[in-house]
Amino acid sequence: MKKRPIYIIMILVFLSGYLSLKILSKQESINSNQSNNGDKNMIKKVEKTNKEWKGMLTVEQFHVMRKSGTEKSFSGQYNDHHEKGIYYCAGCDTPLFISETKYDHGSGWPSFSAPFDENYIEYLEDNSLFRRRTEVRCVVCGAHLGHVFDDGPGPTHKHYCINSVSLDFKRAESQPESESNHSEKPNESAKKVTKTENAIFAAGCFWGIEDKFRKTPGVISTEVGYTGGRFKNPTYKQVCTDKTGHAEAVKMTFNPAMISYEELLKVFFSIHDPTQLNRQGPDIGRQYRSAIFYYNDEQKMAAEKIIKELESTPRLGKSIATEIAPASKFNKAEEYHQQYYEKRKTDSNGQCGTDNCLI
Ligand SMILES: [Zn+2]
Repeated sequence: MKKRPIYIIMILVFLSGYLSLKILSKQESINSNQSNNGDKNMIKKVEKTNKEWKGMLTVEQFHVMRKSGTEKSFSGQYNDHHEKGIYYCAGCDTPLFISETKYDHGSGWPSFSAPFDENYIEYLEDNSLFRRRTEVRCVVCGAHLGHVFDDGPGPTHKHYCINSVSLDFKRAESQPESESNHSEKPNESAKKVTKTENAIFAAGCFWGIEDKFRKTPGVISTEVGYTGGRFKNPTYKQVCTDKTGHAEAVKMTFNPAMISYEELLKVFFSIHDPTQLNRQGPDIGRQYRSAIFYYNDEQKMAAEKIIKELESTPRLGKSIATEIAPASKFNKAEEYHQQYYEKRKTDSNGQCGTDNCLI
């Protein structure tokens, strides 16, 4: 386990203060959005008799969705499911959650940090099982979906714990049907899903950095690779010699409607030590340098701004070593490096270390 120097702690304290202010203002805007267009009564409801529901749902779906049952943990088809797309209500086809907000909570049921659209979710107090919980239902057909808790990841900190059988997944290329009989809103929201941006960061061993970004809501996809060097199409072994000029880096596609580039930068600075020059803990060499590879002037300015702010942090005592450079050719790393921790079902907490550069 790496020891975190005191200045990392100082940076984290600075960022947590900064982020909480930002999250507060974001939450206010979410709340105001909800109150502005949150008229759930405007949505056309789907109403059926129990007999009709039984005719179209499986026995388990009827038990969960119409009788507020719960599927067995770790049994549902969407618990360990990582494809990109939209999760619809299995009863009425309303889009309820998107893969960008899905994360692994470890509870055994699909977990999301936010709904696709607050207007399609209904919240009810549930005092069964001798505890107070908040039940989550589909507004359109009234199907029981699961519960929401306050132990999810930022920025919402919500944990929507949802039964797989209540959901029907469609891959990202599938758009909601234009002839949807609920309203036009799902189409509008789906368009937002497809508007994405890219970012590239280098912060030492790319295994752990990719893992942390993959767990960040709003990050749609990631890949690890080599960039910022001179050689064409370098291999891992060549990059490890520190002679190609490449940095181990993570390229990601993110949804700016979910997470801003500025917020990604804050994640970046909170998961490594940007004051170390050409190394990261036990990993030494320019291939482990801290770097931001920007795609446009906005990203460049945002990077310069946050570095300036970090350097003005009282008692930081060190300058930020992070390089800011234009994005250039990104060579995808060998397949066994991709989603390294996910494939091995391990966590990246401080475990990226000496054995990752094998020559
Ligand atoms: Zn529904």
